[in-house]
Amino acid sequence: MKKILQDFGFAEIENLIISFGEKKFRAKQLYEGLTKGKKISEINVPAELRNRLLEEYEDEPVKIEKTFVSSDGTEKFLFALADGNLIEGVLMKYRYGYTQCVSTQVGCRMGCKFCASTLGGLIRNLTSGEILSQILTVNALHGGAGAKRAVTNVVLMGSGEPLDNYENVVKFLKNVSSADGINVSPRNISLSTCGLVPGIYRLADEGLPVNLTVSLHQTTDEGRARTMPVAKKYKISEILKACSYYFEKTGRRYIFEYSLIAGENCDEKHASELVELLKGRPCHVNLIRLNEVEERDLKAAADKQAYRFSSFLEKGGLSSTVRRSMGSDIGGACGQLRAGYLKNKD
Ligand code: SAH
Repeated sequence: MKKILQDFGFAEIENLIISFGEKKFRAKQLYEGLTKGKKISEINVPAELRNRLLEEYEDEPVKIEKTFVSSDGTEKFLFALADGNLIEGVLMKYRYGYTQCVSTQVGCRMGCKFCASTLGGLIRNLTSGEILSQILTVNALHGGAGAKRAVTNVVLMGSGEPLDNYENVVKFLKNVSSADGINVSPRNISLSTCGLVPGIYRLADEGLPVNLTVSLHQTTDEGRARTMPVAKKYKISEILKACSYYFEKTGRRYIFEYSLIAGENCDEKHASELVELLKGRPCHVNLIRLNEVEERDLKAAADKQAYRFSSFLEKGGLSSTVRRSMGSDIGGACGQLRAGYLKNKD
């Protein structure tokens, strides 16, 4: 595979251009073109420079292979990477604009029992430019031109565990929020983790106040370990301590994801345990009914149960929302699209 120019921030592009013996303003042209989601071959710089770049750098590191549109307007993309690997992303339309969900790895090695992304293990990490290019491409597709964005919000909730690809993810966060680039404010970015505690501490110290989301899904370490192997490594109490540190450092309240699985985590008992665990904390609980994955035998809780669970939490003083499950008719859950596509190809 060639190198990826979208890995570079503006200063690095400038250094590259200078090392080529080119005039500095070419760096600006190039960077603006990339920020608009253009391929190198489409950017208006002298042919000689373009060709030199194309010898070393991928013209289109992330290509839309297929688009699926849900009846609720949610779009799901299957992206092809330059080495042929596939990743997926989702674009959700809200009143204020578009929220794009990006992948951070091809596959995942966390092994959560309800998740389709991890079925084939981890294939490889994405580079920062491959994460960024998912947004540049989709933003351009929807008429956004660089910082004049169609994509207003970003969530790192596609395939992969962001804190298991720490350096590339942080570089991506810096580049995507850079004022001279596509300039998505860290406040409009949410990073979701299954609870890699050291990564939460590191992120808190980066000075990037993104929203921290932790996938909790259970109220006890034993219960959590049934569906999330990572629970054997990090205790809920350690996660909560790391969240407090994150709040101290960034002033951002944090969010817990709690997917409701029938017979597993959504009885009244679980609601009161969750209240005990989280009350008084500057946090919010997002409840989402499990998106059933064909390969797994876990079942979603009924709608009614989700609202009952939410009202228990509210009574206990926790703020919570039952999230609309968007795009479930097109394989909305993590990794379902890629898994389905790979299966049908065989
Ligand atoms: N690895 C990160 C981010 C990716 S998953 C993490 O674990 O947070 C984004 C969210 O979707 C997580 O909360 C994850 O637990 C949840 N999720 C994965 N598969 C799901 C499914 N089939 N139904 C409902 N939620 C699911």
